[in-house]
Amino acid sequence: MKHYIPYGRQDIDEDDINTVVQILKSDWLTQGPVIDEFEQATAALCQAKHAVAVMNATAALHLACMTLELGPGDILWTSPNTFVASSNCALYCGASVDFVDIDEKTYNMSVTALAEKLHWAKQHNKIPKVIVAVHFAGQSCDMKAIRELTAEYDIKLIEDASHAVGGKYQDAMVGSCQYSDIAIFSFHPVKIITTGEGGMLLTNSDEIKQKAQLYRSHGITRDPQLMVGESQGAWYYQQIGLGYNFRITDIQAGLGLSQLKRVDAFIKKRRALAVNYDEALSTLPVITPWQTPDCLSSYHLYPIQIMLNVVNKTRKMVFDELRKANIGVNVHYIPVHTQPYYQQLGFKQGDFPICEAYYEKAISLPMHARLTETEQTFIVDTLKSILITE
Ligand SMILES: *Cc1c(COP(=O)(O)O)cnc(C)c1O
Repeated sequence: MKHYIPYGRQDIDEDDINTVVQILKSDWLTQGPVIDEFEQATAALCQAKHAVAVMNATAALHLACMTLELGPGDILWTSPNTFVASSNCALYCGASVDFVDIDEKTYNMSVTALAEKLHWAKQHNKIPKVIVAVHFAGQSCDMKAIRELTAEYDIKLIEDASHAVGGKYQDAMVGSCQYSDIAIFSFHPVKIITTGEGGMLLTNSDEIKQKAQLYRSHGITRDPQLMVGESQGAWYYQQIGLGYNFRITDIQAGLGLSQLKRVDAFIKKRRALAVNYDEALSTLPVITPWQTPDCLSSYHLYPIQIMLNVVNKTRKMVFDELRKANIGVNVHYIPVHTQPYYQQLGFKQGDFPICEAYYEKAISLPMHARLTETEQTFIVDTLKSILITE
């Protein structure tokens, strides 16, 4: 290919552009009515009671932990197979982090490993206050099983659904929070829909919603019912907690609202591409992403594992050859606990062996709504020529 094929990218159409232009001409660039509309549309899509939009998913995760009152002395568990934001949110709150190894097939947090670790944690007085379940590549974790395992300890559950906008778990949309306290979406350009930068917190709890709105904007309220004493007048506001400026703009919310109209089309396209990959790669020495019948993945990523014992090449060699052919492959994820910052917190190579073994073989092939059939054929043919040498 003459052009570079990215692993992920946005799909912006004329409607998206026109919507944003209209907002630029309106009275509100931020804190206006479009943010409410975007929140309501997202909540409606997911059949969640509330949605609170913020500047990115990292802020949404931080906010989620704040609303659950995670703090010093508390522990948060997540998957090591994720972006660092899923665990950094605990550290922002002064809590500590631990990980649960992944399932060999789904690459999500293993329910068996979770059960074992809870058993150990109970004996050692290390039960976490919060678990962040990451829906890797767009396929939901087994939330029902996770809820059942954690209910007796009253552990709060956050779904990091950054990859899974538009996906389903059992009969419900991801984001419905049927088996969790909070779900988080990311609207970064490589994700399913985009607002440039953006994130959303979904919940069915009135209390969590109220706190999220408060901490999103400095801990300031204009609601007389939340104030200490009387309001002094229409200008009056009170700071009743310590929050941040995590707000999203109306410009971004408008883009999100417009993108949300195409979420079904985006998922349909991604799922069709996945079917093509599954079929075309079935004869190659790679493991394609296994799908549980319980879920409908939104396929943010298409991660394959190279069968290194069959192929006489390293993962790095395969990766570099694909990049040389202008195919923008990537690797998801470098296990979080192997990052220098986390090693300094005491984690070591070998702590989560299933995740580490997966990482050694993983490559994410391009997957996005604008990927063409010609590009996909080129990707498959190139991979074939790299993996199968006479
Ligand atoms: C992208 C991503 C995030 C962070 O999203 P931002 O919107 O960029 O802050 C968090 N968790 C996971 C799993 C992600 O993929």
